[in-house]
Amino acid sequence: MGFDYDITVLGGGPGGYVAAICAAQEGKKVCLIERANVGGVCLNEGCIPTKTLIKTASVYHNILHAADFGVEGVNADSIKVSMPKLQKRRQAVIDQLVSGVKGLLQANKVTLIEANAHFSDIHTVIAGNKTITSEYFIIATGSTVFIPPFITLEGKNNIITSKEALLLEKIPESAIIIGGGVIGIEFAYLLNTLGCKVTVLELLDNILPMVDEEVSAIARKRLVKDGVTIHTGAKVGRVKDNNVFYECNGAERSISADVVLMAVGRVPDTEGLDAQKIGIEFDKKAIIVDEFGRTNVENIYAIGDVNGKVMLAHTASHEGIAAVENICGGNVKVDYNKIPSCIYIEPEVSCIGLTEKQARELYTDIKVGKFPMVANGKSLTTGDTDGLVKVIVDGNLGEILGVHICGNHVTEMISEISLAMSLEATFEEVIATIHPHPTVSEAIPEAFMAAFGKAIHFK
Ligand code: NAD
Repeated sequence: MGFDYDITVLGGGPGGYVAAICAAQEGKKVCLIERANVGGVCLNEGCIPTKTLIKTASVYHNILHAADFGVEGVNADSIKVSMPKLQKRRQAVIDQLVSGVKGLLQANKVTLIEANAHFSDIHTVIAGNKTITSEYFIIATGSTVFIPPFITLEGKNNIITSKEALLLEKIPESAIIIGGGVIGIEFAYLLNTLGCKVTVLELLDNILPMVDEEVSAIARKRLVKDGVTIHTGAKVGRVKDNNVFYECNGAERSISADVVLMAVGRVPDTEGLDAQKIGIEFDKKAIIVDEFGRTNVENIYAIGDVNGKVMLAHTASHEGIAAVENICGGNVKVDYNKIPSCIYIEPEVSCIGLTEKQARELYTDIKVGKFPMVANGKSLTTGDTDGLVKVIVDGNLGEILGVHICGNHVTEMISEISLAMSLEATFEEVIATIHPHPTVSEAIPEAFMAAFGKAIHFK
């Protein structure tokens, strides 16, 4: 039977559009269906706009602290951030990237249909007024903000999510952020730097739970030093008007602020897709996939946030490429143990692999090495001495198990470890790799040397 397309991708975020381009490059006839802008949450209301706003926060902060670097004459009272101008720049960055993605789809001869799609059978979707048949489908419909049922909302609230927080035309005087994960902490940094009084309420004992606790503690200390109030072990159960009620050390407490930002996670989004109707299996809201990204329906794959595995844009892109290769006869598995994570605050945080605590549970002999940024020459020159490189190595085989870093430029540096881990390099091979001087990246081999008591620049 002939189909309209070889592969149809549903959802044009960093998972979907990358999969579509990759499939076209493999010589497939490809259709991409997207109901909003291509680029998805990442490009339109996630990673890209957040980082655009964070850049302004960082410029503002640097100007206010210019005197620390010998630059005189800055009048703090006259330095202001124009929110309308900032919002205009945010939109310009998004527009440029959206049109870039559209251009790439066109150049690769991917048919783009801008409509809502739903399945009518395993080879057919209805997109707007079109019926499209396809041999394979890749579902890449992403995720949406999680509004938890365990937090009751009463009265008239000024609750926002990251989506509205990115569109603020005025910085609120005060904000409570529920959730100290990546979204909560990036917005805590952003809003605090722009002059808002921020309080973070986090359920667990540490903020940024995926990061090694010794490293996340450095980020926390710096946020607190810069003015953010952080309560951990704080379980929010109710928001009444703008009062947030939480339990901490067995006591019920409450605080209030102008806005309440809900940042307790995201959930896979398959609203209106009719995926259950054609027999696709779910685990709660996530589409279940095997190690090759395939659902229980053989010709349908699910990549990115919608499969609920690791909700990160780069994971989605990677899963998209793997799914296409598998459709084309490959046998590609994504290694979920080697996915880097980056948190864009000041100083930045990045990590990959196991924390020390996780490694101690899984391995009998581990070695831990640390190198503080205060001992790194480049960090001293730029005044970025808060930070640490922490490495975790299997003491038997020398395998790199995890690396967690806090410091300036570390979101760029973690790729070195991604490469090392994907090539299964040992710690000795990282040490033997010549790192340029002066750079922050020199702290990485030093941390590995420290794991064996041989750091050169730190005792
Ligand atoms: P998250 O799961 O990272 O963090 C949510 C936090 O809320 C957790 O730490 C959790 O303990 C806490 N929490 C849950 N219930 C609570 C309660 N009742 N009271 C207080 N705290 C509570 O979710 P997120 O920060 O919303 O991010 C969503 C997804 O988007 C994540 O997968 C994240 O990795 C991704 N993301 C990544 C980036 C990045 O890579 N830079 C940026 C933004 C979002």
